[in-house]
Formats: sequence, structure tokens, C-alpha cells
Amino acid sequence: MAASREAAVGAKEESISVENDESTREITEVFSGFKDADSFVKYGLGTVVAATKASANLPQSGDEHDFYRSFPGFQGFCETQGERLLQCMSRVMQYHGCRSHMRDRNKVTGLEDRFDLLVDSNDVILENVGILLDEASGVNRKQPILPAGVQPPKTIVSSWNRKCGALSKRNQSETFRLLHAKNIQRPQMKFREKVDNANTPFVPKIFAKPNALKPLPAVLANRKLRDARPEDLDVPPALADFIHQQRNQQQEQDMFSHPYKYELDQFTPDEKLLSKPEYMMYKPLQETNCHFVTTLEELVELNEKLAHCSEFAVDLEHHSYRSFLGLTCLMQISTRDEDFIIDTLELRSEMYILNETFTDSSIVKVFHGADSDIEWLQRDFGLYVVNLFDTHQAARLLNLGRNSLEHLMKLFCNVEADKQYQLADWRIRPLPEEMLNYARDDTHYLLYIYDKMRAELYEKGNALPALLQVAWQKSKDVCLKKYIKPIFTDDSYQDLYRKQKKPLDTQQLTAFRLLYTWRDQISRQEDESTGYVLPNHMMIKISEELPKEPQGIIACCNPVPPLVRQQVNELHLLVQQAREMPLLKTEVQTTEKKAATTLKRKSENPLFGPHDSSHISESEIPNSHSSAPLLKRGKLFSEDEEMEEGKEVQDCSPLIARATITIFDFELDVKEENHLTVAQQKSHRIMQSFENPFRMYLPSKETNIHMSHNAKYDPSSKVYEISNRWKLLSQELQQKEAKEKEAAKKKAKEAAQKATDERKKAQEEYKTAAQSIVTVRQQAAIAAADQKGKKKKDRTVSEPGAETPKPEKKRPKHTEQPADQAPATDFQPFDYSKSDFKVFAGRKSKESLQFDPAKQAQEPKQSKKNSKAHKNNSTPGNKSMSYLAGKSERGFKHNWPKR
Ligand code: AMP
Ligand code: MN
Ligand code: ZN
Repeated sequence: MAASREAAVGAKEESISVENDESTREITEVFSGFKDADSFVKYGLGTVVAATKASANLPQSGDEHDFYRSFPGFQGFCETQGERLLQCMSRVMQYHGCRSHMRDRNKVTGLEDRFDLLVDSNDVILENVGILLDEASGVNRKQPILPAGVQPPKTIVSSWNRKCGALSKRNQSETFRLLHAKNIQRPQMKFREKVDNANTPFVPKIFAKPNALKPLPAVLANRKLRDARPEDLDVPPALADFIHQQRNQQQEQDMFSHPYKYELDQFTPDEKLLSKPEYMMYKPLQETNCHFVTTLEELVELNEKLAHCSEFAVDLEHHSYRSFLGLTCLMQISTRDEDFIIDTLELRSEMYILNETFTDSSIVKVFHGADSDIEWLQRDFGLYVVNLFDTHQAARLLNLGRNSLEHLMKLFCNVEADKQYQLADWRIRPLPEEMLNYARDDTHYLLYIYDKMRAELYEKGNALPALLQVAWQKSKDVCLKKYIKPIFTDDSYQDLYRKQKKPLDTQQLTAFRLLYTWRDQISRQEDESTGYVLPNHMMIKISEELPKEPQGIIACCNPVPPLVRQQVNELHLLVQQAREMPLLKTEVQTTEKKAATTLKRKSENPLFGPHDSSHISESEIPNSHSSAPLLKRGKLFSEDEEMEEGKEVQDCSPLIARATITIFDFELDVKEENHLTVAQQKSHRIMQSFENPFRMYLPSKETNIHMSHNAKYDPSSKVYEISNRWKLLSQELQQKEAKEKEAAKKKAKEAAQKATDERKKAQEEYKTAAQSIVTVRQQAAIAAADQKGKKKKDRTVSEPGAETPKPEKKRPKHTEQPADQAPATDFQPFDYSKSDFKVFAGRKSKESLQFDPAKQAQEPKQSKKNSKAHKNNSTPGNKSMSYLAGKSERGFKHNWPKR
């Protein structure tokens, strides 16, 4: 057993040294007996595979091994081979300058000691490999000092690097910088409204509601006045709104509900959309104008054009790797005659004006696979869609087999879609032509596809509108989706833990939880995706290995994420803290164990101050379990089974109802005690002397509903809604019921009246609000005139933190200070220019400069070469621009429609 373990480890060791050799030496004679590095590597790998196989074939521990051990020949052979392996490993370690007393260890603790030694050596070696690879890829700290006139050696490690070979005269590191994603200027820095990564639920951004049938709830409409409430300036915006709403006792549902729910519920597609459609062939690309929209003026003009269309196609491009919540980078719109590409990074704060056309129920908006688009529109721009036709939903109804846009384009337009830019970094500006063309293709053919699909649906539905209606219904369901921000709770890590198959012991699990917490904090603070800060597999590796040294943490990561490098000491402390836990084995999926660790952890989390209770989940509040034991089962469900949990809660309610009614009935009887028989009176007295065993299940004023689930934090969730309903129930249920009956009667009478009133009110309110939008148009014209003299770039330059005159103008007159222009004192968690990287002491200043976003701003130079580089390369820096976070990050949980 020991021998086989060591053999396997030895094999691993060998492979590492092979890798190391490859990256350090490119001179051929170093590999004596091999013509080049490739053949050496091939031979090395062959040997490693053979060794691994052989070690796997050794007799297994238990009976088999013990049986073999009883033969002295076998025993002797094992010992000599083991000795040889240890010698070999010692030599490798010595070569790398590690401690290597592999052979003279105490026999009893020997194996454990050796294993630790081996792990440490592996860490050191891998770190060396990392440094050398970094150096080779130009991220090196020390450039070799060479005599004048001598070219630095060309260290070729990957294809994109090779491309730069022709440019060898140029400074090597400069060419790299252009290719790396981290050198793209962070668009967030230019946003007027700072990104709100606070651990608070998402509050709709909308503040004016065009095409309203029901007015916008006051809490949203008045949100722009937030800045006039100095008492709320030190809390995150969402929280400020929430506090304000509580203060004014407005309905909190209003604050989180879908602003266009009513309008969507009322919506039915026009008659002519359900009848046999006519096609309109798409215009050839070459004959179609394509506008790149970057100014408010152009956006207003586009909105006017759209207002005169009966349908237009929309698509979005998104970036999720270098942002916590994700960024919508581009919006493509195609009418029957023209294509438009909107720079939504530039126009982020102005995009809301498109609500005029996007929520106009007489204009069809065609999307393909709009699920995520609908969420991104809400999250970034406060945009909603009424009257959507989703070609992905239609494709599903038609059973086309494949539902991707790529497939539809081939099928209906005979166009081969080129999907190589799907995962490109859409933040790049100026946008390379190839990417522009790609983006344009995504909507250019969509209206024709829409025509064709409607015709097929009509035919498949036997010339009846039923199937078309289903398509519109399904699309409407997509519109009703609400963006939900990822909320961190003490239990968040468990979803990811459950997904990874390996069981972790108490120490490992503690490390995992601490790292998960650290990662969430850093990601929100630095506005990076959790995948950028610390990818899941690295986090799991660190938790499993629990490295003793900071270097070991580095060794678990390849490539090392910049923020891990920066905060390695911090991480090391977390790992140490985990190592101090008593060591117990745990099993994955054991909920009891998880609950136990959940309770333990509260006090030990160094990331939260003693007064910060935000991380304490309700499940940890003592006694809350007993109040509603039925709901405890919620712990077993994962986050996105919200509906099921909702059902579960509902399932409980009949019990409540029954119990309540029984007691209630009985008490009514009591009043008529005189009329009861003697036996009944006796039984009544007996009943009175007992406490009702079901009391704990009954609604009462004191009942604290226990929700052991994330959903309980999310006011937009079903559970939240239901818990509210429950609260209502528990508050004088009986009275309510009686009153409600009466009220219902009255309501029925008033309903018709009210509906018309509401509509009028909505129209009036929007008129007032619309003044601002009208103003936008007028101001846009003025601004355009103003801008003629000025350089276009003025705005960009002056943006971060600076007050620009423009937003002021487009605000309604009654607004004293627009919400966009939060004063410097406002909550600004992500002002990058103020990022304090010095906090993470212990790193060389040179290094921290490398990752300072403010520094990157000095290198905004982009060229078309970038895009080419994006095509095939697979370097860590720019490989995955779209980061798919785990289930727990709900905002990112999408089933990507294949293109
Ligand atoms: P599309 O709907 O194809 O235009 O895609 C819109 C955005 O979704 C892209 O810009 C990507 O950021 C993201 N996306 C699309 N497909 C995928 C995928 N398979 N994996 C990750 N991200 C994707
Ligand atoms: Mn899309
Ligand atoms: Zn697209």
C-alpha cells in the first residue's frame, strides 16, 4: 500500500519535473538523447503513464496485499523498489532546493511525515513552474538584463505568443498587455451610477413608466428623491429605498414586484398577429445601413424610428468575467430596413428611454432566447418588454430538434452563423469590425425568421391561432421574469459543496466555507466575478490540501488569480484557522452535519465585525425552529427550487385553516354552553383544562415564521410572498376573513370604476414623468448643438466622479438632485480610483501596480489585432470572458440558448 502510494506520488513528481524542465530550458542539448523538448516531454509522459499503471496494478490493500506480503520475495522486492523511489524523489527535491530527508524518517510517523514533505515540495516546485510560466508569458517581474544589442531569447509557450514573433522588435511585455483582458479599461469606472454590489435584494431601476395601465408604485417613482434624504446617505441604495418605504409604511411588495406585471397580465397579441402572416424578406447585409449608436442624441433618434415600426428585433451582448453582477456591453436592434448597434457601456444611464417602445404593446419585439436578456435589461437599464416574440420559444413549439439561432439562420435564411465571438470580451472599444459584424448578424435576420416561424406555427396549428397564442404566452412568461441579485448568506457555500462530489472533513469544510466567504466579499468589493477572484476548482483544491505555507496556496492555483496573489497572507490565515478545527470526517449530503457546522461558525468569522449581524441567517436565531417545524425541510432544497418550497408552505396552510376553524367553531359553541348536553359540557371542560397540542401549528400574533432558506431574504420570491400572506393570516385571521368578504363585495362593485380611474391616474402620472423624457429629447438636441464645438471625448474624460451637466438636464423639473448624480458622500462601494490596494501589504509594489485598474486606464490602446487574438487563443487572461458562476449565484444561472 505504502509502496503503491509512493509510486504514484513519485510518478506525479516526475511529471512535474518534466513540465518544469520544459519551461526552463529551450536549448536542445540539455535534453541529452532527445532531439528537442517535445520528444523529451513525450518520453517523460510515456514513462509517467507506465509508472502510474504499474502502481495501480499493485496488489490492493486488505487481504490481497497482506497475502502477498507473506511471501518474503514480494516483501523484499517492495522494499528495494520503495527505497529506489524514495532516493529518486529525494534527488528531485534536492534539485529543486527543497528539504529532502525522505529516507531517514521514523518508521511509525514516517509515512505521514514523508507525505507532508512531498506536498510541501510539490508546492515549491509548482510555484516555480508558475513563476517561470509567468515569465515566459511576459508577466514576469524581472526582465533579464541583457547586454546592449542582444535580443532577448524568444520563449515560445503558446500560439498567441507566437503571432507576436514578427513584432519581436517591439517591447515584448507591451504586446502581451494588449492581448490581456485585464488591460481593457474597466467600463465600470465610467458609469455615472456606481454598481451596487451590496448584499441587498435588487430594487427595480425604473423611475418613470411609459405605457402604464397602472401607475408606478410611489416607492419607485420617488426614488430619484433619494438624495434629498440625507439620513439615508450612508446605506446602500437598495437599503435606503427599503428603509424609506418602511418609514412611510408603503407596501414592500410594490418595491420588489415586476413593474409591468399588470400590463403583461392584460396583454394579448393583436388579432392580425394570430392570423396567417406574410413574409418580408430580409435586406442583404450590404444594402443595409448599420448605425453604431454612442450618443444620447442618436439613441433618441433611434427610439423615434422604433416608435414607427410594428416590430423590431433585439439582442444583447454581455460580459461577466470582470464584473460581479455582469455588464451588458452591446444592444443590437434591427428594423426591416436598418441595423443599429448601441454602445450600452457608453449609454448605460440613458438606455431607459427605450422603455417607450419596449413596453409599447402595439410593437412586437423579437428576441432569440430572451431569458437572460430580460434580466440584463432590468438589471442594467431598468428596461422591460411588453409584447415579446421569442424565436427560441417558437422553435421549441415547432420541435425543430435544435433551437439555436444558428440553426434557425441556417434553416430559414441559409446563412452560416459564425459563433466564434460569442464568448469574446464585449467590453473592447473601439469594437473590432469582426465583432461588430458578428453582433449585427444576431438580429439582422431575426425579423424574417419571425415571419417564417409564425407561418409554420400557423400551419402546424391547422390554420388556427392556438399554437401562435402559445408562442406569445411563453414569450410573455419570459417577460415576467425578474432579475434576482445573488445574495450571500451563511449557507451559500453549501450549494457548491454539495455539487462537488468529494466529502471534506471538518477542517477542509471550514476552509471551504471561509474561502467562499472571503471570495464573495472580495468579488463584491472589487467588482469582479467570483470566478475571476478564485475559481471553484482552485478553492476546492486549497480546501482539500490545507497548505501549511502561503506558498502552498499559490501552488494550488494555476494560473494564480491576481487577487489570490495579493491576499495570499489573508488566505493563509483562513486556512490556518481551518486547520485549528477538531478533525472529524464528514459526509457530503449529510444535512445534520452541515447544520452543526453552520451553528459553530458564527463567532469565528473574521470577515465580519462583532457588530455586523448581516451574515447571521435567521436559521441561526435561537428557537426559531420550534415555531414552524414544518418549514424546516426547506433546508434540503436548493435555491432554485423556490417554487417547490413555496408549494410546501402552501401545503401547510390547509392544516392551519382546518385547525383554526375547529377551534373557532368550538368557541362559538361555547357561547351557547347552556344548550349543550351534560356530556358535551363535560368534554368542553376537559378540553379547556388541556393545552391544545396543535397550538404550535396555529397562527398567532407571536408566531415567528422560520424560513431556513435564502429565498426568505428575497422579497421577490414566492416564499417571501407566502410568508407575508402567512403573517397576514396570523394577524386576526377570523376578523380579516369576515371583513374581506364584505370588502370583496364592495370591491366587485368598485372594480370597474377603479380600473378606469387607475388608468387615468397612470396616464396622468406618466405624463408628468414623461416631461422628463420629452425634456431628454429637447435637451438631446441642445446637447447635440452644444457638442458640435466640443470634442466628443469630453464626456468620457470627465466622467468618473465628476458632475456632468447632461444628466441634470434630462431630469424632471421637480427633481432637486437626480439620483444618478450621487454626491461624493453617497454609498460608493466601487470607486476603483479609490481602491486601496495597500491594504494587502506584503506584496511588492510593482506587482500591485500591475493589477491596479486605475493604472490600466493609461493603456486604453486597442487594435483590431485584439479581436484576432481572441479567435483561437486559450490563454488564461482572455479565454473565458463569460464566466458561468455556480448555482448559488442566481443572477448568472442561465441555460444558454445555443446559437
Ligand atoms: P447571444 O444571445 O448568443 O447573443 O449571447 C449573449 C451573451 O450571452 C453573450 O455575449 C455571452 O456573454 C453570453 N453567452 C451566450 N452563450 C453563452 C455560453 N454558451 N456560455 C457562456 N456565455 C454565453
Ligand atoms: Mn441573445
Ligand atoms: Zn448576441
